[in-house]
Amino acid sequence: MDEVFDVAIVGYGPVGQLLAILLGQRGLRVRVLERWAGQYPLPRAVHFDHEVARILQGAGVMNALAKRVEPAAHYEWRSADGEVLLRIGRDAQGSDSGWPESLMFSQPELERTLDDRIVALPSVRVDWDAEAVDVRESADLVEIAARRESGETLLVKAHWVVGCDGANSFVRGVVGARWNDLGFRFDWLVADVIPHEKRTWEPLNWQLCDPARPTTVVSGGPGRRRWEFMRLPGETMDELGREETAWRLLSAWDIRPDNATLERHAVYTFRACWADVWRRGRVLLAGDAAHLTPPFAGQGMCAGMRDAANLAWKLALVRAGRANDGLLDTYATERIPHVRAMIDLGVELGRVICVLSPEQARARDLRMAAEERARHEPVSRPLPPLGPGCFAPGSPGAGTLFVQGRVRCGEAEGLFDDVVGRGFVLLSPDGDPASSLSPEAAAFFRAVGGLTAHVAPGGPVEDRSELYTRWCRERGAAVALVRPDFAVFGAAEHLDGTPRLVEALRRAIGG
Ligand SMILES: Cc1cc2nc3c(=O)[nH]c(=O)nc-3n(C[C@H](O)[C@H](O)[C@H](O)COP(=O)(O)OP(=O)(O)OC[C@H]3O[C@@H](n4cnc5c(N)ncnc54)[C@H](O)[C@@H]3O)c2cc1C
Repeated sequence: MDEVFDVAIVGYGPVGQLLAILLGQRGLRVRVLERWAGQYPLPRAVHFDHEVARILQGAGVMNALAKRVEPAAHYEWRSADGEVLLRIGRDAQGSDSGWPESLMFSQPELERTLDDRIVALPSVRVDWDAEAVDVRESADLVEIAARRESGETLLVKAHWVVGCDGANSFVRGVVGARWNDLGFRFDWLVADVIPHEKRTWEPLNWQLCDPARPTTVVSGGPGRRRWEFMRLPGETMDELGREETAWRLLSAWDIRPDNATLERHAVYTFRACWADVWRRGRVLLAGDAAHLTPPFAGQGMCAGMRDAANLAWKLALVRAGRANDGLLDTYATERIPHVRAMIDLGVELGRVICVLSPEQARARDLRMAAEERARHEPVSRPLPPLGPGCFAPGSPGAGTLFVQGRVRCGEAEGLFDDVVGRGFVLLSPDGDPASSLSPEAAAFFRAVGGLTAHVAPGGPVEDRSELYTRWCRERGAAVALVRPDFAVFGAAEHLDGTPRLVEALRRAIGG
């Protein structure tokens, strides 16, 4: 009889890869179908944020990535005359997630690292050269037909299917979703360069808001630089996409064939859209299949990685029969408002730079430079909360990203997730939350993969950075319940509110 997989994933880009890891680590049997025979080679993402770094830490790849990422400080926006119009604050050292706020990297290197991790997971199987062409759902299964280059057809059965098949997603059509489109559309040439000699780039990441040629100049990870050039009126996509055009535009930056290698170049149309439906029955969408954002905030892949982190624990609980299938509906209700906020940010930043009229650019420069001078600090953009979903209603901090600090427990010292563990975490600076749970509540909590920790300065889990104590104090909370995707489920004012939080969790997942 054919093997039935727990989850089939269509698409082996970074989002499909991460989802495969997060499910495979939980012991689910996963089959991935990828259209091409090898990895996608063209330039794309170069930035991920601290939350994504924590997700990748949980996927077991941050150590392998350590030498392949470059922390970034400020992100600047400058006029054609070099005046600073906007400085977005980024702390290169640390954030409340335990990682630098912004990390620069090369997407193909990340994808290779994720692939290495997947190869080590026995319950994940990847089929290259397998283009999904048909998806049929029955009462308790989905059957996917995939076509190979040779003409052979592959049939895969799974309980759930997730379309991580990118912007032109085939699975999006299966779900019956349509794009909500903000109508933001600009064409840019993207060029990744390896300079032959080490240079100092100051600032590391910036946008030249020159109406004569809006240009992005950023790190592409250690040893790499990324330039992006906006298409001008009268220039064709074909012209812009030629290698000689890339070299011509790069020469203005002292980048020439004799001092640098042009690693990759391609023309992209930046768009701002999200699918109106993310699930139909046993078929779901994640990553670019569900949303597209202009890259000016460096958030497209980050959003997809958050999708994977949000969906993985829900699919695992539902598949294990510990949660009701309705939990999967909270995936879209939680993620769409967050994605929408990130798309709006990408569009807002895009509207600053995608200006070709010299008059409009002058007006923008005058206004933004004055605003920038009046500010004393770089602009800080906290991550938005998740939308309504699986949370304790009305609870402090519910739906926001929880912190991760350094802790010590016995001989072990390091980041909380590595030292204490991952899953649902009940933690308190006032005592062990487990002490107030009935045996039945404690058994339920363990069964959904729950952990408890008394985390305090000098506590059994020593709060080295006092981050946990501060988080609770600022919200008037004594105990917090954090979900496996690091979102706060809820918090209670006193330690004896713990049973109510656990009961709220039981109700929210329908377990
Ligand atoms: C110029 C540029 C700069 C960017 N910069 C950033 C940045 O700095 N930070 C950031 O977070 N994001 C950035 N992004 C966005 C980021 O690259 C994407 O969001 C990310 O690659 C999406 O990953 P994905 O896995 O969802 O889709 P993809 O990477 O597109 O992967 C989809 C996979 O599905 C496969 N596939 C498609 N159809 C089928 C099928 N029918 N059957 C089987 N397989 C199929 C494809 O071959 C592909 O391998 C940028 C994008 C661009 C274009």
